[in-house]
Amino acid sequence: MKNNQNYTRLFWTLLLIFSIILIIGPIGLEHVFARPGGGHGFSGGGGYSGGGSSGGGGGGDGDLIILILSMLPPEISVPLVIAIIVFRIIQQRRKKKNNGAVISAPTVVNRVNANNQTQNTLQQLLQRDANFSKVVFLDFAASVFYKYYVWYGKPEFRFVAPFFAPTEAENSKRAQGQNQSNSEIVVGAMNIKNISFSGGYDTITLEIDANYTNTHQGKATRFSVYERWHFMRKSGLQSLAPETMRSVACPNCGAVSSFTDNGDCSSCGTHLQAGEQQWFVSNMAIIDRKYFSTQGMAHYAEERGTNFPTIYQNGLSTQLAEFGRRNGVNLQAWQPTFANDIVAQYFMKIYAAWSANKLSSVRNLLSDRTFESFMFWISAYKSAGLTNKLENIKIAEIQIVRVDLDKLYDSVTVRIFASALDFVTDAQGNVKGGNARKPREYSEYWTFIRRFGVKKEAFDTNTCPSCGAPADNMGQAGECGYCGNKVSNGDFSWVLAIITQDEVYGG
Ligand SMILES: [Zn+2]
Ligand SMILES: [Zn+2]
Repeated sequence: MKNNQNYTRLFWTLLLIFSIILIIGPIGLEHVFARPGGGHGFSGGGGYSGGGSSGGGGGGDGDLIILILSMLPPEISVPLVIAIIVFRIIQQRRKKKNNGAVISAPTVVNRVNANNQTQNTLQQLLQRDANFSKVVFLDFAASVFYKYYVWYGKPEFRFVAPFFAPTEAENSKRAQGQNQSNSEIVVGAMNIKNISFSGGYDTITLEIDANYTNTHQGKATRFSVYERWHFMRKSGLQSLAPETMRSVACPNCGAVSSFTDNGDCSSCGTHLQAGEQQWFVSNMAIIDRKYFSTQGMAHYAEERGTNFPTIYQNGLSTQLAEFGRRNGVNLQAWQPTFANDIVAQYFMKIYAAWSANKLSSVRNLLSDRTFESFMFWISAYKSAGLTNKLENIKIAEIQIVRVDLDKLYDSVTVRIFASALDFVTDAQGNVKGGNARKPREYSEYWTFIRRFGVKKEAFDTNTCPSCGAPADNMGQAGECGYCGNKVSNGDFSWVLAIITQDEVYGG
């Protein structure tokens, strides 16, 4: 009898968990991995394609559920299967109802309000820590994320362990010897969702869209994940110098990846205590994890968001004036120059490179994460035997919508309205998706960053912004083969840091 009671309780618990997963699931619609020419049905997650009906639908979590079910006794698994089917039907119905519908205005308004609040707390953070730079913090977070995955379950995890709560080092140790590893880690979008100051700590909540390959006992599986990471540090701390700040470096001497098992720097002996000198990850949650499949990559969804009103930053004119003041430029002259000589040039060149599968020719225009994200998509298309073409591109309008300034970086976001023939071909050149004859109108928000103090407003996009040599010898890491300088941090000119689709942009 007791056993039966236990099973009943277990059943209801599991039912509850699955219901929550299924209900929460559709939130994934909001998250689109950064790439040019958005609006495709395929978002990389497999399970949440915008158009609803592509081949990528739900395979990933389905397999996971089957795996869990197979481990349960039949008196639990059978009713559970019925419950899942019922929820699936409800979910499909809801999806159908929403199919093609424009995101309701309140959703956009909520997103903008939430974003404004985050921006306000970001300003508070800048007042408390004048050295804080969002650009550098995101580089740091991406670096921690990358190294966490690549070293998890390996002795090298000690190099990143001081940037996590102590339990992570123990988890990683336990995972040693399980014959598993992660590779090809690509960080797509990163969004600061919340900043708070309480309990003696500053906390930044970051949501991360990423892909990686997990190899377990010889079997490789590609995952698409959406994770929420909480970064904390003792309140009152100031950001480290950017060179030290942006990687998993010793806060004292700057040595990278040089920690002992005890969390001491091998170079200078400083003991790194979580949150005492630098941000650490206090906890992380996987919001969504799906098997990545290239199935359905040729599918196109109805374009959404193009008609949404442009979201301008609160206080944009003040920010623009401050940009002009601190850079010593006349805004009247600067705005058209920036739109024509930077935004339009980059836009056309980057799309041409994307269509030709030749990103090396625009490596000097892209930040590391944008480049890696694009490379990921190009290789995903390639492995599906497809190429995404964007031809006859015409820019209709460029609007400057947001300016962010901190001690280290200038960041300018524009909304670009354009049209293009956007289609997918197979190896023989047959059109497998999209339309090669009718242009598609769309808009995207592009964010450019540049190190504060760089005065050069325009440069030849075919050359290295540092030494002026041809940009034909840029390494994967964005380092010029002629002068050796890394140009992808925006230290010498603007680089494209973020692309956000209009239907998910929130300011
Ligand atoms: Zn050190
Ligand atoms: Zn150079």
